[in-house]
Amino acid sequence: MKRAMINPRICSNCDLCDVLELCEKKAVFKEDKTDKPWVDFYFCSGCLKCKLLCKNKAVEEIVQPCNGQEKLGW
Ligand code: SF4
Ligand code: SF4
Repeated sequence: MKRAMINPRICSNCDLCDVLELCEKKAVFKEDKTDKPWVDFYFCSGCLKCKLLCKNKAVEEIVQPCNGQEKLGW
């Protein structure tokens, strides 16, 4: 299962995060202004469109081992 991860070491916590604003699955969250955005793997579909949206190239592709959830359509 592919998923997107925002690398906190690279993310510069932009005032306007296109990854957060434009993710079609609403899988990107940010608790408050000082926190960096993060991807909730439960909602992320792994489309990786966000790799093109981040101007700092902070989005990385990761592969999670299949845990059976895909069969259930999660
Ligand atoms: S656009 Fe990229 S660097 Fe900026 S806040 Fe979003 S994920 Fe972080
Ligand atoms: S991979 Fe797709 S679903 Fe996941 S955070 Fe990026 S844009 Fe959203």
